[in-house]
Amino acid sequence: MGDTEKLVIIGSGPAGWTAAIYASRAILDPLLLEGVPKQDGGYVLPGGQLMLTTEVENYPGYPEGIDGPKMMADFKKQAQRFDTRVEARDVVGCDFSKRPFRLTTKDAGGDEKTVSAHAVVIATGATANWLGLENERRLALSGGGVSACAVCDGALPIFRDKELVVVGGGDTAMEEGSYLAKFASKVHIVHRRDKLRASKVMQKRILDNPKAEVIWNSVVVDVLGDDTITGVRLKDVVTGDERDFPASGLFLAIGHTPATGFLEGSDIQLDDKGYLQLTALPAMNTSIEGVFAAGDVADAVYRQAVTAAGMGCQAALDAERWLTAQGIE
Ligand code: NAP
Repeated sequence: MGDTEKLVIIGSGPAGWTAAIYASRAILDPLLLEGVPKQDGGYVLPGGQLMLTTEVENYPGYPEGIDGPKMMADFKKQAQRFDTRVEARDVVGCDFSKRPFRLTTKDAGGDEKTVSAHAVVIATGATANWLGLENERRLALSGGGVSACAVCDGALPIFRDKELVVVGGGDTAMEEGSYLAKFASKVHIVHRRDKLRASKVMQKRILDNPKAEVIWNSVVVDVLGDDTITGVRLKDVVTGDERDFPASGLFLAIGHTPATGFLEGSDIQLDDKGYLQLTALPAMNTSIEGVFAAGDVADAVYRQAVTAAGMGCQAALDAERWLTAQGIE
């Protein structure tokens, strides 16, 4: 086998760690590439979206709830208990055109290394979306009070007892709004329609919260302020009217994009939203034989920690069976 890995798992959220737990218990000696922490207007942390979540209340087995980062640390510990090898490297390119596959990786210092693998599980998750406004990006990058992660930044002193704006009408916006209301004097949820997308239980958290209100049928068309945000320009999508709305913080909660950029040029099949296409459900096969996918990178629908973990388990079992069929054990 030389230096070729039997199984490389890319990603360190619930899907990646669960795949690692199953693969290492099956003595596949997996290598998990957990990624390098980085900030680029948004956040990409090893451990995935749960690193940006305070309390996970819906993962079975934690009746009192559990802190997201603590949960990911426990997943990692469990995978390492069975000798999963972990390297803090990003995959920046993939050659799936012949076997063994070749993954180009980079560490935090930019040093490149090629990893050769018989099988791969892709579990790279999805990252937060931005509105795409120039001032939004400028103030996010300068730490000027614009963020796509309330849980990362909401407790900062600059947001304490201040009026804050959250954009979005989904579960994330409700969750982030409730979280911010703990620190802020008031949270204004700006939503582009007259109906929230969020589940009823999450809607209730905002609608019943005296420190929160929803600004309906509105979009943020600009972010105001030089060094720090002083407000947002809101446009009423029904009347077309624009007004400046004072605020000391802006939090984006408008969905996520799957982390599939590193697959460009690899010919692996993505769906119309850019998520990895699973081609042989219920198996976690992708369009490339020997490459499997798990978690949010291949799931635009459920996107839960528990479903990601389940997919990680499936991907590892599928990879194990496939490797056995290839005579690689
Ligand atoms: P989402 O459900 O896709 O909602 C995104 C929201 O942002 C929508 O309300 C959408 O408006 C709005 N939006 C999108 N692009 C916009 C733009 N350019 N300008 C203004 N608004 C924009 O995303 P999510 O809230 O992140 O949730 C993703 C998944 O995770 C969901 O399945 C959700 O149930 C789940 N989740 C669950 C929990 C929980 O249960 N604790 C917490 C967080 C997330 P429209 O409604 O008009 O499309």
